[in-house]
Amino acid sequence: MSGSEDRLRDEFEACFGGLAAIGQDPAGGWTRLAWTEEDRAARSWFESEAAARGLTVDQDPAGNLWAWWTGPAGGSGEVVAVGSHLDTVRRGGAYDGALGVVSGLVAVGELAARGVEPRQPVAVVAFADEEGGRFGLPTLGSRVLTGALDPDDVLGRADQDGVTVAEAMAAAGVDPAGFGPDPARVGRLGAFVELHVEQGRGLADLGQPVALGTGIWTHGRWRLTLTGEANHAGTTRLADRRDPMLGLAAAVLAARAAATELEAVATVGRVVVEPNSSNAVPGRVSAWLDARAERDQTLDWLVAAFEAAVMEAAGRNRLEAALALESRSPGVELDPDLTARLAACLRAGGLEPPGLPTAAGHDAASLAAAVPTAMLFVRNPTGASHSPAETADLADCLAGVRALAAVLEDLACR
Ligand SMILES: [Zn+2]
Repeated sequence: MSGSEDRLRDEFEACFGGLAAIGQDPAGGWTRLAWTEEDRAARSWFESEAAARGLTVDQDPAGNLWAWWTGPAGGSGEVVAVGSHLDTVRRGGAYDGALGVVSGLVAVGELAARGVEPRQPVAVVAFADEEGGRFGLPTLGSRVLTGALDPDDVLGRADQDGVTVAEAMAAAGVDPAGFGPDPARVGRLGAFVELHVEQGRGLADLGQPVALGTGIWTHGRWRLTLTGEANHAGTTRLADRRDPMLGLAAAVLAARAAATELEAVATVGRVVVEPNSSNAVPGRVSAWLDARAERDQTLDWLVAAFEAAVMEAAGRNRLEAALALESRSPGVELDPDLTARLAACLRAGGLEPPGLPTAAGHDAASLAAAVPTAMLFVRNPTGASHSPAETADLADCLAGVRALAAVLEDLACR
């Protein structure tokens, strides 16, 4: 192994190890919820790692941290940013978010060590509260930054202990006054690239270390209410029953069938049964459908097939059925030109990156609305994520860092 490869490996291991030491949960995994003591420690870790590489750090009004290679100057569309997030879900893995931030810092350090000089401003970003694990709003920092979330609504959101975002930020030493979007900063961005550990088995199955993101799946949540008639489980004849549980059973199977048919995913993970008694035919069942697909139209087809099957089952069982949309995020297409440029960089480095869509949300989705955005995924051998079992091999992580360094050199340094 050459000296520069040794250096890259040592830098990566030291940097990744420093962050992985923060927020280890005694119950297993890593817990760094937004604006907690652990998150605060991770943020100050970021500041010292940036300083050690000669980067200057500032904070935007949405609470995200930016480490600048050349200072935060730069005109419209000139800044090239890479990064991800430092927070985790409860008892999550060591790589989700962390890998993108560490890889960004190590890639910039590697370019500087090789004497490469930026001709455009370069920033490594650590987005605040990506997971939504505490306040229930995922990609909070990036969506407030771009103006997709109302800052006043966000500040008043409370966690399960009744602590609001404003109070939590203040307790973590960040003044919530002025919390809000930063259109000028977003306008200075010319490209954003998020490297992330893959949260599925796509790369493992393809035998490749690094992939390019093609897009982020559209995602929706619907509430299904099935109303029948509560009655005695012993004395009500089968022919006389209006049992909404039969409608639910048909609905769960219909969701699975439609998702299989359309190569999408659908989950019924939450059910409320009334009266929820073991010796009564239920009177009402509410269930939540979480469905995700690569394209908006596919999701429309999935929900239409689900609804048709549910209505048919409701008719057969003499139920009233209502399906209501609770939330929907559109699919995000990553920038094809930027992605093609990344592909050329990676091929020049000897990789053959496949394109992979993702069904998970990312800060890249928030940025993509305003800035040409691309994603890199690093192989996850088991596909486990949001779990202590999440992992990536060192060699693949280093391939990701080298890919990110090549991309930064191409976009900002020549
Ligand atoms: Zn993540």
